[in-house]
Amino acid sequence: MKKGLFGGTFDPVHFGHVRIVETIRDGFGLDEIFIVPASIPPHKDARQIADGSDRLEMARMAFKGIRGATVSDIELKHAGKSYTIDTITLFLNSAAHGTSLYLIMGLDSFLEIHTWKSYMEIFRLLPIIVYARMTKQGAGQDIFESYLASTVSDRYTFSAARSCYTDPSLQPIYFYRGELIDISSTDIRKRIRTGRPISGHVPEPVEKYIIERGLYL
Ligand code: ATP
Repeated sequence: MKKGLFGGTFDPVHFGHVRIVETIRDGFGLDEIFIVPASIPPHKDARQIADGSDRLEMARMAFKGIRGATVSDIELKHAGKSYTIDTITLFLNSAAHGTSLYLIMGLDSFLEIHTWKSYMEIFRLLPIIVYARMTKQGAGQDIFESYLASTVSDRYTFSAARSCYTDPSLQPIYFYRGELIDISSTDIRKRIRTGRPISGHVPEPVEKYIIERGLYL
């Protein structure tokens, strides 16, 4: 079985998240992808973040009926900050024999990975799939490559046969150049604050939930 871990703040979950899960599921033949909303996220600034219970509920709504998608409350269940390395370890330790686990993230997250707890350990433990995204530096594979060489390991080389970057002692990394998705939670929150529509950015039940609960005003 091939499984994926897709963590984030999901504040709120949006169509970009859903599209990434469906695209990666199909592109890599993953059987199941766990969507894991973070508890007090260690890498976000001090801005007000919606309650974990709201973010979880919205994620469940957005991924309802999406084949292979499972929303996990594993990080929200534990008190305190959540760290990806701990979640990976939990999943790896409880995975059935023969399961391969992939970590999924957008390019913006990948370019910050050196700020994560024990980040080099992540590269030792499991393969990573990076989905292209427009960032301040751009969206190109060159940005990904120079970060990889300067910050992670300069021994990664692209293997055309395997369509990924391989390193003699670290796990492979896949750069997925899917269609760029111009949706972000930051923009959605801004839209809500300024009274602009968010339909087309989030699934309808999520939009309804945000309005009913008065979130992000
Ligand atoms: P914010 O704007 O608050 O930073 P976000 O839209 O990036 O939020 P997160 O919950 O932080 O959403 O993202 C979870 C994961 O999904 C991260 O790895 C992020 O890089 C990725 N992601 C989110 N939106 C996109 C997108 N439009 N394209 C590619 N990756 C994305």
